[in-house]
Amino acid sequence: MLSNKNKISCITTGKRSSCFDGGKIPVMVILLCLGFSHFIMCSAQEPVSTGDMEIIHEKYVFADIHAHPSRFHRSSVEQISKEEIDTYLRGQIDLAVANVSSDAAYQGGYTDRDGTQVRRLRGNDAYELEPGEGYAFTLDRFARILKTVESGDAVLALTPESVLEAKKQGKLSLLAALEGADGLEGSIDNLRELHQKGLRLLQLLHFRDNLLGFNQTPPYEEGGLTEFGKEVVRECNRLGIIVDLAHSNTQTIMDALEISDDPVIFSHTGVKALYEGDRYLTDEEIIAIAGKGGMVGIWPTASLESLEGFVKHIDYVKNLVGVDHVGIASDLRGMSYIPEFGDEANFRALTGGLIAQGYTDDEVGKIMGGNFFRIWQEISR
Ligand SMILES: [Zn+2]
Repeated sequence: MLSNKNKISCITTGKRSSCFDGGKIPVMVILLCLGFSHFIMCSAQEPVSTGDMEIIHEKYVFADIHAHPSRFHRSSVEQISKEEIDTYLRGQIDLAVANVSSDAAYQGGYTDRDGTQVRRLRGNDAYELEPGEGYAFTLDRFARILKTVESGDAVLALTPESVLEAKKQGKLSLLAALEGADGLEGSIDNLRELHQKGLRLLQLLHFRDNLLGFNQTPPYEEGGLTEFGKEVVRECNRLGIIVDLAHSNTQTIMDALEISDDPVIFSHTGVKALYEGDRYLTDEEIIAIAGKGGMVGIWPTASLESLEGFVKHIDYVKNLVGVDHVGIASDLRGMSYIPEFGDEANFRALTGGLIAQGYTDDEVGKIMGGNFFRIWQEISR
């Protein structure tokens, strides 16, 4: 089933090929037989490698697909700061996915408006909240994204077209998201209301198991997507909200892939074959997500040690499922970074790392945001 024609039309980058090589062919044959032919997205055109960030950026929307700029989700701040937005623009980022961690209402780890530090709980431990408190917490943090937009510092990413327009004007677009749907409190109406306010991405799980499903960090539970979780995925499909499976356990991932009509993403992770961590994905999970037309975002976390380590993870995903299924996710102000990215959030270092490894212009553009943007266009159609 994997014809020579498919094999020779692949873009090659130095010694690497963006299609599947020897060891992966059996998996490919199975997937192709199942009809996953859109995996083969290789072009017959000569690959271009100018190595020029400006030229690549002109053609592609650059996106940070998971972030908490200004730590707006946990700090006592009114909005995302102008400095943070300027940092993004200096890094050529056009679109940043700004996440409210709504599970923080239940697990703490944030500073209240009056300056009180609410202690962080771990595992599935949670504070007991009154009905409505979790959603109110979510709305309060969500309002910080809207305030940033109202101040004129950034634009709300409501549609892919609005992002292209903002990019023309040299403005950053913020795509409003929840990390952990805990704050919905089991209500589809709350999801609809948030969508009306501008929510465009929903990460189902965060640090604790919730009403939608089960997460990938200890204590491990075997469960998958719940009935409410299924209802939420269907409603996200209907509303054009991107479903993000980051932090979900294997069964929840597989259930969501089965129920969703649209591609789904896994925004911030790394490859388990290269690093043994709770939050990393197995080859099977990556293949399943890509098979649905989705993508995984690689995180420049300290555990990847260096820019070289970061690119290795990108390389691995590219070789496993193709360059159309990988992106970048800084988790800005959410955790520690590789040295080259640093506290100043140097996104150009990430672009530069890919260029230095011999990636073509189109490959760099796709990884730096083009893939995410294409998937969002597909979902919002
Ligand atoms: Zn996360």
